[in-house]
Amino acid sequence: MTDINLFETVQKHVCTCAFDLKLSSNIEMLLKMPLQEHHVSIPLRMDDGSVKAFQGYRVQYNDARGPTKGGIRFHPDVTIDQIRALAALMTWKCALFRLPLGGAKGGVICNPKELSAGELERLSRAYVKAMAHFIGPDRDIGAPDVGTNSQTMAWMMDEYSKIVGKTTFGIFTGKPVSIGGSEQRDDATARGGWYILEEAAKDLTLDLEKATVAIQGFGNVGENAALLAHPLCGCRVVAVSDSSGGVMNRDGLDIRKLKDHKRKTGSIRNSGLGEEITNKQLLGLDVDILIPAALENAITRVNMGDVRAKIIAEFANGPTTAEADDPMYARGITIIPDILCNAGGVIVSYLEMVQNLNMDHWEKEVIDTRLKKTITETYRAVNGLSRENKISLRRASYSLAVLHVVEAMKVRGWL
Ligand code: NAD
Repeated sequence: MTDINLFETVQKHVCTCAFDLKLSSNIEMLLKMPLQEHHVSIPLRMDDGSVKAFQGYRVQYNDARGPTKGGIRFHPDVTIDQIRALAALMTWKCALFRLPLGGAKGGVICNPKELSAGELERLSRAYVKAMAHFIGPDRDIGAPDVGTNSQTMAWMMDEYSKIVGKTTFGIFTGKPVSIGGSEQRDDATARGGWYILEEAAKDLTLDLEKATVAIQGFGNVGENAALLAHPLCGCRVVAVSDSSGGVMNRDGLDIRKLKDHKRKTGSIRNSGLGEEITNKQLLGLDVDILIPAALENAITRVNMGDVRAKIIAEFANGPTTAEADDPMYARGITIIPDILCNAGGVIVSYLEMVQNLNMDHWEKEVIDTRLKKTITETYRAVNGLSRENKISLRRASYSLAVLHVVEAMKVRGWL
């Protein structure tokens, strides 16, 4: 979206937090550096017989609280700094929710839309082959992210199992249910986001049944956010966009029809379900809730003045740059930060790991109850701290998350 460095954004949040927690400069430096990173070049036989090299990364950011965990992104704009940032965000997210996990992230510079199904499968397997020595179900566990999905996880789990000579469900989460995947994982990120919004709406005395919503992004997270908006909270989704553009209907969009249109045509353009709008217009709509659910750096110093929503719920990772954060908070916009708002995915991934370890499969209701309890309790803790100290939800989230990591580093004797 822009070339603003997400890693610098996340480091700035850690700096603020180190100040709030009065951490020494040595500890602050440790928290701002990844523990390990792996850079691999992956040769891939293409369908036409040629060989192409792809660059892949895995960053294991901090494992003080447990094995590292994080998604794998397939996208042309992947950079090592972006993966470092996303691995850091995973560390703070897992710690905020007190999951017994550290943070990691992986990525491959590629355009999955230009690869055939066969090429995608070979690339997924080759990535695992290249990383196999550095990952493991009790060391570093992968999951889907932008450009990857449950099918990718199935290929990756299968490849890792072949390498180690035994079926190892716990190496990747977000798998299909038929091979150790969890119920509710597909829409867990979006579901968790709505549970948080339900709580936030009570604090802000916003009537969700009358609330309007605009969603940027219509992939795994954005599409599910749109589908769940009304069933979970009674909200009206008036606008949605993807990388091709957006669509708006003030009376409310028919999300199921939009989803069908995307399945048939590959994008949400020209659906006939509303007025065609640009992504820029979507971000500036007069709605109650704006949900960025696409890529990072969507809201910057340049376009923050356009935002008219009362609440920004960061279903995506890093959608607001550090420079846009404080001014919008000062304007009274409630920003529910990524590490709080989109943790539903990793919470259910953790529950998937627990099921895999026990060779068990839990009912939907069990997963949903645990997800809702974990997410709402943490939201209340963050909100309490934010109100008590008159700081933003982001600053409060980072304070709790970093504190949990520092505690673990101390008892392990690292500090
Ligand atoms: P995805 O690849 O399934 O979907 C991404 C969507 O964003 C697509 O609809 C794409 O068209 C759209 N998009 C890309 N560029 C855009 C632009 N400039 N304007 C508008 N839309 C644009 O990815 P996803 O899994 O839905 O992830 C979305 C975000 O949520 C990412 O930040 C990801 O890190 C984060 N996230 C994902 C999960 C998960 O479980 N998948 C969990 C937590 C956080």
